[in-house]
Amino acid sequence: MSRTAKHLTFFVTFMGIAALTAIGLWKCLGEDPMLVRDTRTRDAVMGTVAETTVVVRADQSHLIDKAHTAAARAMRDVEARMSVHFDHSELAALNAAPAGQFVPLSSETLDLLRRSRELTQRTDGAFDPTAKPLLDLWRHAAEDGRVPTDEEIRLAQEAVGWEHFDLSPQDGPGVVKYNDSAQIDLGGIAKGHAADKAVKAIRHVGCRGGLINIGGDMRTFGQSTTGQWVIGVQDPFRPDSPEPLLRLGFNDAAVCTSGHYHRYFEIDGTRYSHIIDPETGWPVDVAASVTVVAEDSATADAWSTALSVLGTAGLPLAESQDALEALVVVGNEHDHRLYMTTGFNAFIIDSQDNHSDERTIAAEWRRPPTIGTVTP
Ligand code: ADP
Ligand code: MG
Repeated sequence: MSRTAKHLTFFVTFMGIAALTAIGLWKCLGEDPMLVRDTRTRDAVMGTVAETTVVVRADQSHLIDKAHTAAARAMRDVEARMSVHFDHSELAALNAAPAGQFVPLSSETLDLLRRSRELTQRTDGAFDPTAKPLLDLWRHAAEDGRVPTDEEIRLAQEAVGWEHFDLSPQDGPGVVKYNDSAQIDLGGIAKGHAADKAVKAIRHVGCRGGLINIGGDMRTFGQSTTGQWVIGVQDPFRPDSPEPLLRLGFNDAAVCTSGHYHRYFEIDGTRYSHIIDPETGWPVDVAASVTVVAEDSATADAWSTALSVLGTAGLPLAESQDALEALVVVGNEHDHRLYMTTGFNAFIIDSQDNHSDERTIAAEWRRPPTIGTVTP
């Protein structure tokens, strides 16, 4: 068993899953009559679509509505606290505050800020929510149809960094900024955190299993009605294709994918990623997509953003982390390659070819590409 399997509670069973091509038949044969599953989709959650699947015992179907309501409340709550787009969110208050002013925060928001700061360290600065001044600069410049100047980038970078924030001020739970221009954008971790919170909520209600998918940031727990949760990794070059690049199988796990095919901006006909490399101050273009598997969705979300910055050069760093596996797809639609950490292989239950012995960090394999669809 891989290092991951030792550290994570999820494990992979290949039982009954090989014949995924016949999904319908397989479902019929494998469906557990003691369990029922219910999926609902909600628009406009954290700027994307959220899909909640709950599994309950057949004699507890009254829990279904309760579970969906609890999941929706959990997601809305994270959004209300952490969105930079809500004028009254805690984060908006922090971003608007001048240097020296104490901004009180809930322990939930403060915890996520502290976790984010630690993740900035772990990812060599690639995941850095304090990069908001750079994100804003690029957004405004794109609205004007131009690329920012080197001087503008340099100035924005001066306000980036956790050293501009005191996360443990004397006044109590909250933050004090040292720099008026310093701001935080939790867009690279908040969806993951919301998925974690929603899973906790449906588990609390009494569900036997569940899957939360917030725009490609997923968290599974417990059983699906067919035993295991199966997640398709979308093709970054053919995002609308129903055929995934890979299918991954899990019980309890988080899987997040970052790709530029859904969210990007355009300047003068050139597409730019919505992820910025804090070091260069420029949008990234080293990977077509990144998929990360971890124990919790906030971690997977942050690392998927980080590895979008670092590309394959970040894989040794990912490899050195406990309970973290990653897949980086590079290239273009004509010639692309997949690189992954050694433990990632254990989650693959189906792919477009079968050179399984090549699926290691050192090796690479080519195939017609495919990410994000869910087949519970
Ligand atoms: P998505 O799932 O929407 O692709 P990601 O998890 O990849 O989102 O995160 C992208 C978002 O993270 C951006 O929209 C922005 O809000 C924020 N962001 C961009 N660059 C960085 C970075 N280097 N570190 C942390 N957050 C970032
Ligand atoms: Mg992310």
